Amino acid sequence: MDRTLIQFYHCNKDIYCFSDYFEHLEYKSGLLYCPACFGRLKFNLLEAPVSIPCPFTNGHNVPCAFNIGSMLGPLHISEDDYSELHIGITDSKGLVYNYTLAGIRRDACGWEQCISVPLVQPDRNGLKEQWDRELEKFSSLDSWAPQRFYEERKFGSSCYGFALSFINHVRAIEAPSEHTFLRDFDGESDLHTGITDTKGVVYNYTKTGVQKDTLGWEKCISVPLVQPDMYSLIDQWDQYLEKFSSAQTWDPQCQRFDEEKHNCYNYTLAFINCVLATQDKRALSKDEFTQNFVVPRIKRASKYRMLCEEISRNYFYIVDSPPKEPEDGNSERSF
Ligand SMILES: [Zn+2]
Repeated sequence: MDRTLIQFYHCNKDIYCFSDYFEHLEYKSGLLYCPACFGRLKFNLLEAPVSIPCPFTNGHNVPCAFNIGSMLGPLHISEDDYSELHIGITDSKGLVYNYTLAGIRRDACGWEQCISVPLVQPDRNGLKEQWDRELEKFSSLDSWAPQRFYEERKFGSSCYGFALSFINHVRAIEAPSEHTFLRDFDGESDLHTGITDTKGVVYNYTKTGVQKDTLGWEKCISVPLVQPDMYSLIDQWDQYLEKFSSAQTWDPQCQRFDEEKHNCYNYTLAFINCVLATQDKRALSKDEFTQNFVVPRIKRASKYRMLCEEISRNYFYIVDSPPKEPEDGNSERSF
């Protein structure tokens, strides 16, 4: 989306609109009016407009990824209408290969607003080179000739069939010991979780033990765990994290990674509970953590799209909202 979605609070309502509408109003009249009560807008700190981050990414900037876009724009990416979706695969340089009625296209632009699912871990440079070679070779196969666009195929005809066939092709030729790059895609391990230290290094538990990643977590959902004024905890956080991660339980030599019972999520949650214990706080259960911290953020992504649709139709989206408590500064805004 080239327009920024913003939210502000007025007359006991949360009001969502695009920022350009706001700018237009101000430019025209020099004044801002509330679209709900038509009162003049003056904001205090708690009511000030906030921008809502966009869940869509520039597919050309995500190497070796599965991209979901729409010919009609990102607002048409919807789980209700698959017919408008267009699917492509990026090479390591951001060129998007996609199958159309005219055969395989290699797009250097046009996928700036899409949902990208990275398929290759950022540090696997060897695989990236192979990826590009295979993608080019695979795209030149006779199966993707324009006249065969409507043919019945195992993974479906059309763009989706092409992308999925390619993924399965790479999966088939990849050495069995290296089944790592499509893990995010096979539905068994949709989510990967980790903990950042104070410098942004992401500690995460995998089959090969605890990884310390400085790259690869650019597109993720983050849950801040420490309030910015908790200086003593911030000071000790990195030490706790390092010590916790060196424990035998996360060493693959001592205890095996298990998709169900001993995985990245257990590692993350155990660390959080370990910190809570040092703070004399009760441990959170897995369900509690999921419900309170994970689920709301996943819902945000779908809410974002709904808001954009509503605003595109009606200029504003307005919902009733109880008066804000002045001392509520630490809690999150309702969105
Ligand atoms: Zn108002």
